[in-house]
Amino acid sequence: MRLSRMFMPTLREAPSDAEVVSHRLMVRAGMIRKVAAGIYNILPLGLKAHSRVENIVREEMNRACAQEVFLPMVIPSELWRESGRWDLYGKELLRVKDRHNRDFCLGPTHEEVITDLVRGEVRSYRDLPLNLYQIQTKFRDEIRPRFGLMRGREFIMKDAYSFHATEEDAESEYRGMYDTYCRIFERCGLEFRPVEAETGTIGGSFSHEFMVLADTGEDAIATCDVCGYAANVERAEAGISVPAGPALNRDKKDLEMVHTPGLKTVDEVSGHLKIFPDRLIKTLIYSTDRENVVALVRGDHELNEAKLKRMLEAEWVGLADEETVRKVTGGPSGFSGPVGLKARIVADYAVESVSNGVTGANEADMHFINVNPGRDFHVDAVGDLKMVVEGDRCARCEGTLAVARGIEVGHIFKLGTKYSEAMGATFLDERGKKQPLIMGCYGIGIGRVVAATIEQSHDERGIVWPHPLSPFHVYIVPVNVKDDRLFDVAEDIYDGLNAAGLDVLLDDREERAGVKFNDADLIGIPVRITVSNKTLDKGGVEIKKRREGEASMIGIDEVTDKVKEYIDMA
Ligand code: ATP
Ligand code: MG
Repeated sequence: MRLSRMFMPTLREAPSDAEVVSHRLMVRAGMIRKVAAGIYNILPLGLKAHSRVENIVREEMNRACAQEVFLPMVIPSELWRESGRWDLYGKELLRVKDRHNRDFCLGPTHEEVITDLVRGEVRSYRDLPLNLYQIQTKFRDEIRPRFGLMRGREFIMKDAYSFHATEEDAESEYRGMYDTYCRIFERCGLEFRPVEAETGTIGGSFSHEFMVLADTGEDAIATCDVCGYAANVERAEAGISVPAGPALNRDKKDLEMVHTPGLKTVDEVSGHLKIFPDRLIKTLIYSTDRENVVALVRGDHELNEAKLKRMLEAEWVGLADEETVRKVTGGPSGFSGPVGLKARIVADYAVESVSNGVTGANEADMHFINVNPGRDFHVDAVGDLKMVVEGDRCARCEGTLAVARGIEVGHIFKLGTKYSEAMGATFLDERGKKQPLIMGCYGIGIGRVVAATIEQSHDERGIVWPHPLSPFHVYIVPVNVKDDRLFDVAEDIYDGLNAAGLDVLLDDREERAGVKFNDADLIGIPVRITVSNKTLDKGGVEIKKRREGEASMIGIDEVTDKVKEYIDMA
C-alpha cells in the first residue's frame, strides 16, 4: 500500500474523552473515529488489525472442527420470549419495532437464534456433536460505554455454540475450546490468563474468562502462586481467615445501645468508638426476585453480590431502596443491624468470629455495642460472601492471593440444557428417547483483543504491534520522494517485499523524514526501512525494529530475507 493513497488520518493529540492509552493511540493512529457513544467507524488500519485477529480465530476454530455461519443481527422477540430473556435481559437489549409494529431486538448474543436453527435440523445423536460459530456485529446498550473499542455498544464478536448428546461430550468440547482459546491468544502474542468466572446473564453451570493482564483492565482477578488457582474476584473463593484485630475469646458483655449521631459508615463508627473495623458487623438489606434479605459481612470486608446471588439461588439481587430498608428494619439506612429482625438473615463465615461487636440498632443515630452472634441475633445461613482482597488466604491451599487487573477478551461457558429445555430443542438418543440438547457457548471480543493488545504493547511514541497482529509488516521511508535515485530503490524494495507475500506500507508522501518517522512509530509497524542518499552512499539501507529502537545498515538485496526472518520469529 502506498501511503499517499491510504485513508489513515493520524493526529498529534488524542481527543479529551480518551481515558486509556489504547483508545488514545487508536484515534491518533487513524484506526477508529467515534460516531456516537460506544459506536465507531473502523478505518482501514483498524480493520486490518481486526482482520489479523479474525484470521487467527478462524484458523483455530476451523482446526477444532467448528464451522462458520452467519446469523441475523435483527432478532424477532418471540425467540427471546421463549428463552425468558426478553424480560430478564434488561436495558442492554436494544429493542426495535418494524413497520408492522412487531418487536425485534438487536442481537447482543445469539443463544436463541442458534438454538432455534439447530432444533429445526438436528434429529438424532448421529447429527451430533456440532459446533457453529460466527464473526459478527453485536449490539449491547451498555450503561457506561468507554475506552473506545474496549467497551463499545456496537462491537464485533466471535461467538460459537456447541450441541452435544452427552455431558461427557459437552465437557470434552469445553476443554477443547479452552485449549483453542489458549492457542488463539498465544498466537496473538498476548500475555493472558484463563480464570474461573461467573456466568452472568448468559447462564450455565461453569465458565472461564480469558484475561489480558493490564492495569487499565475493568476486571480484578485473584491468583494464588502456590497452587495456580485463578478466578475473577466476582467468583474467587475466600479462605477462612483469622480476624485481623485482637477480637477472639472475649467474655460476652451485655448488649448496650450507644448514641452515634450522623455516623453511618464503618470508618465513622469505628473511629468514634475507637475500635478496629473488624469489630463491626456490616448489615446490608437486599431485595431479590423472591424476598428481602439481610446480608452480614464483617466491617473490614466487602460483600460480593455474585456470591450472595448464588447463595440465595436468586435470579437477581440488588441493594434495597430506602422504603424497603425501613420496612425490613424499622429504621433508616446506615443504622441497620440484625438484632431483633424477623427477615431472613445470611452471613459471611467471618461474622461468626466477631465477639462483643458493633451493629446498627435500626434506629436513627443509634448503634448496639457488645453484640454477639447466636446470642443476640439468629443467622439462617452462613457461607462465603466476602469479596477477596490482596493478601487473603487461598481457599484451595496454604498460599495467599494476589489481585491483579485484567481485560476480559474471551469467555467460555458450559450452558447445559438451559436454552434447549426452554426452547424445546431435543434429539433422539441411541435408545430412541427424546432428550434436550446439551450446549456450550464460547465468545471472543475481536475489537477488544485489538485494544487490549495495544494496552499491553506500546511505548511513549505509539503502538508496538506484536508481529502477528500488525496491520502491516514493513514501513518503508524514502526520505525524499522527489529524488529518483533513492525513490527508485525504495520502490524496488517495496516490490520485492510485496512479491514475498509481506504487507508493506510505502511512505511516498511529500513530507519531511521526521514526520514519516513519527507516523511509523505511532502506528507501530514492526520493521522500518529508511532509504536516503546517505545510506545508499554507504552501500545499503537502514533497518530499524520498532521494538528495539537501534537502527543498523543492511545491503539492498538482503532486505527481503532479513525482514521475513524477523517477522516470522514472533
Ligand atoms: P463484560 O463483563 O466485559 O461486559 P461479558 O461477560 O458481558 O463482558 P460476554 O457476554 O461473555 O461478555 O461476551 C463475550 C466477549 O465479548 C467478552 O469476553 C468480550 O471480549 C466481548 N465483549 C463483551 N462486551 C463487550 C463490549 N461492550 N465491547 C466490546 N467487547 C465486548
Ligand atoms: Mg457485559
